[in-house]
Amino acid sequence: MLNIIVAGPPGSGKGTLAKTLAEKYDLIHFSTGDMLRKEVEQKTPLGQKVAPILERGDLVSDNIVISMISSSLDEHPQMHGFLFDGFPRTQAQAEALDRLLEDKGEPLNLMILLNLSDDVCAARILRRGTLENRSDDTDISKVKHRLTTYHTLTKPIVDHYKKQDKFVAVDSSQTPEHTFNQVKQCLNQIL
Ligand code: AMP
Repeated sequence: MLNIIVAGPPGSGKGTLAKTLAEKYDLIHFSTGDMLRKEVEQKTPLGQKVAPILERGDLVSDNIVISMISSSLDEHPQMHGFLFDGFPRTQAQAEALDRLLEDKGEPLNLMILLNLSDDVCAARILRRGTLENRSDDTDISKVKHRLTTYHTLTKPIVDHYKKQDKFVAVDSSQTPEHTFNQVKQCLNQIL
């Protein structure tokens, strides 16, 4: 059983890596960003509540994302490997995920952090925003705000996983294949 987190700044390619890993290792892929965007698109009450938060590039409250992940895990009572993409993003979320996985008797194996400079992240996000028409991806001041949020709230949780000896950092400045091959080598060591 393999349970992993894919983390990294916005624009580091975590979504692309997560999709490839989920497919190749047969993991159930949970992306809190995708789940939240779906709520916004469908204009559900939750979607209406979080839309301005996503638009600003702030983080949605811990309670909301933790309960989304908790119910998604409950939908898969059978033994399966899980991949968390864009979650956890705060210390409280990291601690909640530990508890949820412990309850399932399925501890986390590894957090994979994608490393990329802010300048390259920003350039990639702005390009994606134009291609995918994502409004949180087209405004440079919002993009910079998301990068600051990442450095302030999310990057520090790396220590949580380092302490547990469940952390690896990978350079994602080259092609998606290059990033995937580095991750594959890390996973080969724990599988
Ligand atoms: P992403 O697609 O992962 O970059 O997420 C897009 C947006 O969704 C973020 O900028 C946040 O507003 C929100 N979001 C996604 N995941 C989380 C999370 N784990 N905690 C709080 N907010 C989140």
